[in-house]
Amino acid sequence: MGFYQNALNLIDDGDREEPFAFIRPGFNKPSYSTAFLSALHKSALPMDCGQHGEARACVNCGTCARICPVDILPQFAMKCLVADEVEEALAHGLLDCAECGLCTYACPSKIELREVFRAAKAQYHKETL
Ligand code: SF4
Ligand code: SF4
Repeated sequence: MGFYQNALNLIDDGDREEPFAFIRPGFNKPSYSTAFLSALHKSALPMDCGQHGEARACVNCGTCARICPVDILPQFAMKCLVADEVEEALAHGLLDCAECGLCTYACPSKIELREVFRAAKAQYHKETL
């Protein structure tokens, strides 16, 4: 850990296969959407880092934009950065990103949005300072 870091969170990697996961009701599966029956109860659920599958494309669901606390458009900013359109990403609010990671957690495609934004912001500040 670095000098300015004061917390260390350890989370289960969740890298296990779950047979017939697509037909399971998901009582104990944390999810931002209401796709699982866990939406019916609000008690705390175990959380892990499992991505439940391979890399997936953005499906334009808008979940990241709805959950973002600083009201930027993460999906558009991410796509601009992937296309190397930094000015466009800035116009979509890249520098306002608080790097909270909520978008990454809620994204159904498990795209590492926060890491993309963190790296892009670091690169931008390095080049402009
Ligand atoms: S990491 Fe950035 S873009 Fe994602 S929800 Fe947090 S503030 Fe918004
Ligand atoms: S939550 Fe994920 S899949 Fe949905 S729009 Fe955002 S980046 Fe795309």
